[in-house]
Amino acid sequence: MVEKYNKIWEEIKLELENDLEEVVFADIFEPVNTIFKVVNNYIYIIAPNEFIKKRIEILYLNKINRYLKDKLDEVHKFKIMTQEQAGEELSDNREFSITTPDITIENKYLQGNLNPSYNFDSFVVGNSNRLAYTSAIKIADQPGIVANPLYIFGDVGLGKTHLMQCVGNYILEGDMNKKVLYVKTDQFVEEFVRYASKKRFDEFNQKYRDVDVLLVDDIQFLAKKEKTQKEFFKLFETLHGSQKQIVITSDRNASELKDIMARLTSRFEWGVTVDINRPALDLRIKILKKKLTAETSDASLIPDDVLEYIASVFENNVRELEGALKRVLFYCTAFNLDFNVKNAELALENLVKPRNNGNFLSENKINNVLSIVSDYYRITTIDLISRKRTFKYVFPRQVSMYLIKTIYDIPYKKIGTYYNNRDHSTVMHSVEKITNEIEMNKDVKKDVEKLRIKCGEN
Ligand code: ADP
Ligand code: MG
Repeated sequence: MVEKYNKIWEEIKLELENDLEEVVFADIFEPVNTIFKVVNNYIYIIAPNEFIKKRIEILYLNKINRYLKDKLDEVHKFKIMTQEQAGEELSDNREFSITTPDITIENKYLQGNLNPSYNFDSFVVGNSNRLAYTSAIKIADQPGIVANPLYIFGDVGLGKTHLMQCVGNYILEGDMNKKVLYVKTDQFVEEFVRYASKKRFDEFNQKYRDVDVLLVDDIQFLAKKEKTQKEFFKLFETLHGSQKQIVITSDRNASELKDIMARLTSRFEWGVTVDINRPALDLRIKILKKKLTAETSDASLIPDDVLEYIASVFENNVRELEGALKRVLFYCTAFNLDFNVKNAELALENLVKPRNNGNFLSENKINNVLSIVSDYYRITTIDLISRKRTFKYVFPRQVSMYLIKTIYDIPYKKIGTYYNNRDHSTVMHSVEKITNEIEMNKDVKKDVEKLRIKCGEN
């Protein structure tokens, strides 16, 4: 029986040899030879030492499990032991065995609300998230011991949920008997209210206290929920007291949380607090490459300049970055187009434009339009935005309002603020007027077109 698994491992090693740099393969996988045992759907392989075991676990375990899935099934997973651990087991005279369990790791993921694709292997590291990443690994490695809680904060779409789930998945993969539970704070609140209304506190407590690792996502949603806060406080005390690891994420630092009782938020600072910042361009490109590998079998499908273009447009949010990549993939595939920058621009047209609404619009862009228009008509920007009523100023002013509205589509009222607080009807009237002029007068049409191009639009 074990022969079968040995054979599979040999096959996987061949694939790894193809995939990895020669030195990496030689260092890490060459010495890993036989299957030690197969227990609970885990196939144990032996690494020569702790260091190599860790390297495999963090960097390659998902990869080899993917291969395994192709060759055998989704149920079996590899697990790594050190030579030393295996030796101890043998001297304990434990029998070599192949057993099948009634619980599978898939079930455990499901029970714990975990998404197994959120793992350390798929998390790309750069300056903006390095500290968070290394802290998460340390904590996953020694849950409840290094720092408790781990508090991760940062803006939306920067990988907090992903990283927090890495911790849970890693612990579960290391020991399937561990109880890991992930919960979004709003769900936690709802659940508490539901149980409380039926006075079934016992069940609620049992569910949440009987865990080894608790992952609580977006804790800011506990604001104003006083009863749930009290309950969560007790839960926190219990788990913390028995060294159960807690991981919390939030959109802000614990000390800046509003409407959550201070004795709770101050406890969030007991462990380690780390933040995740916006990824720099190079990290955004790396993330795109990683996602591309996950989405397609051919990572070179989209050339670097196209990835760079996508990364240059989506700066603030990894989720949007990912969405943009998928859209380019879809668009070019569906219309059978080459993957080039021009087509990527077309694919993303609708995503890029709306981003110019409201908040995303920088003052710079508005100032840019104002100065281009005033240069063109040879007046000063001061006069352009003034309330002066001579035609020399009024017409360019109306043209600039028209351009801002049609390029950036921001509210009339907001546009008025750039012109010494003109009211929204004045702006609306100007935009309408120029719209009509363009219809009636070829020269105006030409001028506006030229200006539009100068403003970076075509
Ligand atoms: P948050 O919880 O901070 O709002 P998420 O964890 O939901 O953000 O991340 C949004 C998306 O971006 C997810 O699909 C996640 O996989 C991806 N993501 C974020 N950061 C990274 C990263 N460093 N490497 C790979 N994927 C990332
Ligand atoms: Mg999240």
